[in-house]
Amino acid sequence: MKLRKTTASAAVVLAVALSATACGGKSGTAGDKPGGETDKSKLPTYDVAKDVKIDSPVIAKAKKRGKLIIGAKADQPYLGFQDQSTKEYSGFDIEIAKMVAADLGFSAKQVKFETVDSGARETAVAKGDVDLMIGTYTINDERKKQVDFAGPYYHAGAALLVREDEKKIKGPDTVRGKKVCSIVGSTPLQNIKKPKYGAKVTELAKYSDCVKQLLDEQVDAVTTDDAILKGYAADNPKKLKVLTETFSDEPYGIGLKKGDKALREAVTDALENHQDNQDYRKAYEATLGKSGSDYQTPPKLER
Ligand code: GLU
Repeated sequence: MKLRKTTASAAVVLAVALSATACGGKSGTAGDKPGGETDKSKLPTYDVAKDVKIDSPVIAKAKKRGKLIIGAKADQPYLGFQDQSTKEYSGFDIEIAKMVAADLGFSAKQVKFETVDSGARETAVAKGDVDLMIGTYTINDERKKQVDFAGPYYHAGAALLVREDEKKIKGPDTVRGKKVCSIVGSTPLQNIKKPKYGAKVTELAKYSDCVKQLLDEQVDAVTTDDAILKGYAADNPKKLKVLTETFSDEPYGIGLKKGDKALREAVTDALENHQDNQDYRKAYEATLGKSGSDYQTPPKLER
């Protein structure tokens, strides 16, 4: 595994927290001001392509129903988050979904988001319950047996979230005997279960449940992708912090029906188009960039 070091900016995190307080909070995740605040005024708008022809059974079906169904996350502030009062989804992955949908010929109103937990993604795509899965979805060989991926469009790495006053846990080498929470069906869960870490692992279905257990002192740490954890830390700056060391590679892809080559190509083209025209960067800065994850040039798309 490659080690990747990241630096969190405490100043940015604090500034985000203060502005989030000023704007008022949202509900749906554990914490003071949960949900992440998208800077809506800075979000790009995406031109919807007309007369799109893609030789894909998935797209044919979506056109017939008049909606593209996209599997998303609901409990990842700044990435994929559903406001429980308005039911609206927001975050970087949600913007990726909207920009890709636009190039496939679907307006934001024609996108229907469905929350899919990490452990249910392959089945949701394979069964056709969702047309695309866009939610911190790491590309790996095991998953490729059941789904295809377009991407990668972002690069994350597993990290640790601990309480602000934590002194003993300093990184993955110091979790021996500690209670660490992670998510069923996620790659960081598999990673932290390795005997070399010696952690006592709690497995839950939702990120918000792990974070709640951390705040309630039922567990000592939460592990998953740094991008997800930074969102929670940004929403709870007085109570939580992300340790800077990352200890896995998590390239994010868009999950789609295995064997649907035309769809994979069209989604890859869409990602490339919106990276080239700077929508990707603008969307990043209005969402995930506000949680303390600095902008990174997107990884090379696999063709
Ligand atoms: N990216 C990791 C995964 O795909 C963790 C985040 C998640 O659960 O979505 O398993």
